[in-house]
Amino acid sequence: MRINIIIDENLEVDYDKLELLFNKHSKSIDFKVYKNEFSWDEEYIVYPRTHEKIYESLSKEEVNSYINFIFTDIQYINNFFYEGHENLVPFSLFDWDYLTNLPIENGILFFTTTYLARLLENADNRHYENIGCVYDFLGDKRGVDDGMRQASFCKNCLESLEQEVLSEEDEKLLEDLKLLLDLLSTSSKWNKSILDDIKKEPFQTNKKRKAITEKEINVVIASPGDLIEERELLIDKLERKFRTDKHEELCKHRLKVHGWEDLASQNGYPQDVINERIIKNMDIVLAVFKHKLGSPTINQETGKERFPSGTAEEILFAIDNKNTDSPLGMVYFYSKPPAPSFEAENYNKLKSEWDRLKAFKHSIGNKVIYKPFTSKEELIEIASKDLMKNISELFEK
Ligand SMILES: [Zn+2]
Repeated sequence: MRINIIIDENLEVDYDKLELLFNKHSKSIDFKVYKNEFSWDEEYIVYPRTHEKIYESLSKEEVNSYINFIFTDIQYINNFFYEGHENLVPFSLFDWDYLTNLPIENGILFFTTTYLARLLENADNRHYENIGCVYDFLGDKRGVDDGMRQASFCKNCLESLEQEVLSEEDEKLLEDLKLLLDLLSTSSKWNKSILDDIKKEPFQTNKKRKAITEKEINVVIASPGDLIEERELLIDKLERKFRTDKHEELCKHRLKVHGWEDLASQNGYPQDVINERIIKNMDIVLAVFKHKLGSPTINQETGKERFPSGTAEEILFAIDNKNTDSPLGMVYFYSKPPAPSFEAENYNKLKSEWDRLKAFKHSIGNKVIYKPFTSKEELIEIASKDLMKNISELFEK
């Protein structure tokens, strides 16, 4: 049974890896994953007009395949995720980043599996409220996030499926769906891409760093203004936690935590003072982001924008300098998107803040391994452990 997964070029997905992964996790389906050559000259997908046009452009091989899934970021005029026509189903991943922080490839696997689950004989199950079952109707599109994390049949749907007498072909399809759904939830619940396992480890330098003050690691917390509680917790508690968790003993260094709060009131452009008095004297810059990047910093001579934000300037100082004399950079991003309701008064503002943060995150993707956190308690927990690990591995004893 051949299934084609046809993806628009502007959705950044590794076709080869995705095809490899799909086929590795299924026994009865032959998946083909490739670029969409159809040119959409429409602003919206309108059923059935757009579907009929695409269907006409399919090759004979595609028409004869079991099903053709097309993935695009063009919006349905009714804002649906999908509508089907013959054996063609265009899925719209429009505004994806506002619905979930999980990558597009996880979404492709999600829609592929949930759609195929609907094709099982007698599968007329449907949940109109989102409960994280593959049969959720997803009237509220934000349910897609939990759907990917849970990626399973709910107890009731599984029971009713088990009571059905499925055809031999459907039995095989169900077995493949279980494998694929397991892969999806195992990755998604840890905020990972389904493709992570087949990605190469990033290159790391072997030369060790030297702490500026012997036996002591000075770390500065860099963060924009929407992380007041997280910042307070790190500044007040991280030093002590590092000691009581015995991390200090393990990595043979005492941890000292700093922030701009250390500075006395003084003259000068604040970001320049922070850079000069704090950032340059640190062993580690630890940056934390939630839903915004912050305001740009300004070059005092030209009046032009210097960096997209103060926090960005501080962490880039660490991760843009490859030599081991500059501070080591560590970065954490809050794992849930802002998901503002479309009616919200400040929707456009939240959206543009979030867009700036996403662009920044994208721009540092190949310079640093960043990690997600879901609460301030989890943040301090993983930051403490990561610091211990990084100090042990990357700094001279
Ligand atoms: Zn269910």
